[in-house]
Amino acid sequence: MFSTSGFLSGFYNVELHHHLDGSIRKKTVCELAKQYDIPFDDQKFEEALNASNSLVPFLECFQMFLPVIQGNPDALERLAYECVEDQYNNRVAFFETRVAPFFLLRNSGGDLDFDCIQTCCVHDVVDAILMGLERGEKDFGVKSTLIFCNLRGQTQWLQPLTKLIRHYKSNPKIVGIDMAGNENLAWSTEELELTKEWYRVARSLGYGCTFHAGEQGMVQNIERALDEIKSHRIGHGYALFKDENLLARCKAERVPFEYCPISAKTLSSLGTSFDDPNNPILLGKKHEVNFSISCDDSLFFGNLLPSIKICRDVLGFSEEYLFTIRENAARATFLPEEEKAKLINHITLRM
Ligand SMILES: [Zn+2]
Repeated sequence: MFSTSGFLSGFYNVELHHHLDGSIRKKTVCELAKQYDIPFDDQKFEEALNASNSLVPFLECFQMFLPVIQGNPDALERLAYECVEDQYNNRVAFFETRVAPFFLLRNSGGDLDFDCIQTCCVHDVVDAILMGLERGEKDFGVKSTLIFCNLRGQTQWLQPLTKLIRHYKSNPKIVGIDMAGNENLAWSTEELELTKEWYRVARSLGYGCTFHAGEQGMVQNIERALDEIKSHRIGHGYALFKDENLLARCKAERVPFEYCPISAKTLSSLGTSFDDPNNPILLGKKHEVNFSISCDDSLFFGNLLPSIKICRDVLGFSEEYLFTIRENAARATFLPEEEKAKLINHITLRM
């Protein structure tokens, strides 16, 4: 089953930008709602999914299904396990998945104080996800790690997240941090300073850092993520092509970008159709940007294979170039160096 590298034999896909909660199966949402007696309208959910063609309705859709998993370790364990199974079915050898742990607490939209009860709950959330990923690895052989995420504007979680990464620093499954959400929100001084502090602590503890930036048009957000926040990787970053100097710098520094072709076309203000020469994924190839391919949220955009198929069949990427993209992903993972070297060998030697 495993090659000499310890990764699944014949499986070469690597995914770096995968939101765990946004990758729940539609069927699982409906089953969990029934199982836990949570009021839920299947048809309205289906309609909301179909209408999620821009960022705001997309983010609103999460509010519909999050109550079926929030504060429920069993449901979260199942979600994580099923994501591993889905990755197996997409010939993924390794993936990093990300989650905003405080949003998976019950009633996390309200005013909470951060006493020890909440801290215990968030540990239950994280541990349930880790258990699901590990059970999935045992059954399917797909390896994975976890990234903690916050959403823009949710300043109240930044200090608890800083505490959380200190708590989990010895756990090799937790490898990085991320900021997602609406990047067009204005930064308050408090949010910016606490974000910089969260990233500073994460780097000092050896975590990898990524940051959603330049998805919705503002190229300055990429520069801020690199220079002020000091992120190692950029989530999306399609606005890069608006600034020649920044493009040249990112190429010279080999900054890794996490591209998501189907979500870019659906959600990004820069996502043009696939036959437009200004499609950001095509521009990434043209300008030799160091990018990898991910699905973002499989509930909305399908799993990884449909995204790879778009690159091959619609954007015209050769098999050889698709292997370059896989190698880019392997080189940009937040795995410990030794594991990363094994993954790179696995991809490049194709054992
Ligand atoms: Zn994302």
